[in-house]
Amino acid sequence: PSVFSAIEMAPRDPILGITEAFNADTNPNKINLGVGVYYDDNGKVPLLSCVQKAENILIEQPAPRTYLPIEGLAAYDKAVQELVFGADSAVVQERRAITVQALGGTGALKLGADFLKRFSPNSEVFISDPSWENHRALFESAGFKVNNYAYYDAATHGVNFEGMLAALKAMPQGAVVVLHACCHNPTGADLSQQEWDQVIDAVVTRGLIPFLDMAYQGFGAGIAEDGAVVRRFAATGVPLLVSNSFSKSFSLYGERVGALSVVASTAEEASRLLSQLKRVVRTNYSNPPVHGGKVVATVLSTPELRQLWEDELGAMRVRIKATRDEFVQKLKEKAPGHDFAFVREQVGMFSYSGLTKEQVAKLREESIYAVDTGRICVAALNSKNIDIVVDAIAKVL
Ligand code: PLP
Repeated sequence: PSVFSAIEMAPRDPILGITEAFNADTNPNKINLGVGVYYDDNGKVPLLSCVQKAENILIEQPAPRTYLPIEGLAAYDKAVQELVFGADSAVVQERRAITVQALGGTGALKLGADFLKRFSPNSEVFISDPSWENHRALFESAGFKVNNYAYYDAATHGVNFEGMLAALKAMPQGAVVVLHACCHNPTGADLSQQEWDQVIDAVVTRGLIPFLDMAYQGFGAGIAEDGAVVRRFAATGVPLLVSNSFSKSFSLYGERVGALSVVASTAEEASRLLSQLKRVVRTNYSNPPVHGGKVVATVLSTPELRQLWEDELGAMRVRIKATRDEFVQKLKEKAPGHDFAFVREQVGMFSYSGLTKEQVAKLREESIYAVDTGRICVAALNSKNIDIVVDAIAKVL
């Protein structure tokens, strides 16, 4: 027997498993609501005009594919930092924030996790219950013990805020708390501004290390509105990590464009952190790819393209909101005894629909695929499939 012969099969990824089952389904009218991707009303992943225009600019100026610096493209890191914290913010002005290009939001989380493991090895990590399914695995694979904090309340379809606050107040000093900056995945339930005030207060008072994960900036209330919580955390002066992703907001999933930003207490400390973060990058993948970073940097720093991006992202946001309204309205007609009004209050691409595992299994018999937890991707609904989905849901309720 070789070293490999006793290795067991790894468990299937729950979300990607749905896609595999969906792909294998021969029903031409099959519908996949299990995805974590924005589809337009034609059921297609959009190629944004701002991205195409930026790519045209880049084609006009062909450049050799040399290595990028370890921390990524300077223009990209600067543009991201200004987007995330604000160009006029104290952390940017005082050079206390460092930003490194990362392989999507996942790559940013992994860099942050490895970095924290080196410098705060005994911290425990806390993620929301439930959270994006990869959070736990990512931090565990970096060597951390990962716990849950109370978050979702199935009875109200909202946040169990008292439970969350109590959990924060009971965390040991130095614990890392992973917070979804906006558009909570998978529940779609976000905190109010007043609730954020209390969370920030608890994090600061208890000396916790906040790690804000922002994968859906612009899908909630707007780019600035969704990013506001990052700026408020940064203004407290506590050590802070922020992972952000352009997978969804630029529809650039496969280009792997994201970033990790870390806020230090002085510019000098920031430069030490950057030097260490570069070691983490160097020992993982050496340096990031060029194309996606150039596209995003070009869009963010060219006024017309930036405006176009804001408009295109705004259109995605508006379509999701309108779809929520339509979904609620149609369910009201087709399933009068059931109240889905909460779907309107949820934000971002997802809805915890309240459908049970058994109901999800029944939907699958109709070739409609959702996550066992009842999570559906609202952005996968469109004018051609919404009636089919609503009828099928009404039938399984
Ligand atoms: N964080 C959250 C909360 C997410 O939902 C996702 C993607 O679904 C990510 C991070 C990862 O983003 P990316 O696809 O850019 O790696």
